[in-house]
Amino acid sequence: MITLAMGNGGVENRDLIEKVIFRHLGNDLLAQAEDGTAIGSLPKAIFTTDSFTISPLFFPGGDIGKLAVAGACNDLAMMGARPKFLSCSFIIEEGFSLRDFQRILRSMAKELSLNQAQIVTGDTKVVPKGSCDGLYINISAIGEQVADVSQGYLKPGLAILISGSVAKHGAAIFAAREGIELQSDLMSDCKSLWPVVEELLSVEGIKAMRDATRGGVAAVLNEWARAAGVGIEIDEGAVPVTEEVRGICEMLGFEPLVLANEGTFVVAVEPESAPAALEVLRRYDPDASLIGRVQEEYAGRVVLRSQWGTRRFLDMPSGEILPRIC
Ligand code: MG
Repeated sequence: MITLAMGNGGVENRDLIEKVIFRHLGNDLLAQAEDGTAIGSLPKAIFTTDSFTISPLFFPGGDIGKLAVAGACNDLAMMGARPKFLSCSFIIEEGFSLRDFQRILRSMAKELSLNQAQIVTGDTKVVPKGSCDGLYINISAIGEQVADVSQGYLKPGLAILISGSVAKHGAAIFAAREGIELQSDLMSDCKSLWPVVEELLSVEGIKAMRDATRGGVAAVLNEWARAAGVGIEIDEGAVPVTEEVRGICEMLGFEPLVLANEGTFVVAVEPESAPAALEVLRRYDPDASLIGRVQEEYAGRVVLRSQWGTRRFLDMPSGEILPRIC
């Protein structure tokens, strides 16, 4: 069990860090154990940060540790940056299970190795029972940009791809939280994207990428349309959604396009490169699809075209969709 003393800056704190955390996450840089870590310089450094407060901490397809490392590294990957150095702060509630904490550390270690990234600095705080819900994690991450991608390059004519079926994370968290027993194996899509992104970047004409986390695909497309002053048209029937996810969305009354993903991303690519990009994406997920295109019409807006040819706007999600999903 984690005790308040383990966050006291003294012997118990040192033991938690050196005997438990370093055992799973340790490396030469972290072992320097000074107030800061010298990481040298990177030619084109990208810096990002994210906090993780998900409930429940363990869910089908992952846990808060996997989510935290994958989530931070994915934001770098979406910028065309190879993940390198991470900071990690734990805020732990007094009484938290040491066994669960170690399980989370093991998940983090596995995800770090997939990204070939290291935690090089960190902090651990223990707060009195009731002051937080189990465990929160903050991660900041630095990566080295190897490809010039940006939403600034969006322009009419580009094809819009999705790397897999949508809304699995939001639907799986909702089902886990509500104790819904499913006859299926609905799982979060939580995963590290650098391996697929690294291959994808060998295709010419990749202009922009964004992981469709909070607010789902709807949020990404609306942010893009607004930032670049372009319209985006999506073919509703082309968006891959599994049967289980569709069922959960009907119960929730949400569109799959607004629910969160944690390992599914949107790509804008030159139309002639779309087949080559899809081929790479489908090696990792057969559901990857071409779902739409960037256009001049309706600048700043996202248009959803139904199977029957009718059109409506897909708006930026609003209100409380599902709190604490990441
Ligand atoms: Mg992101």
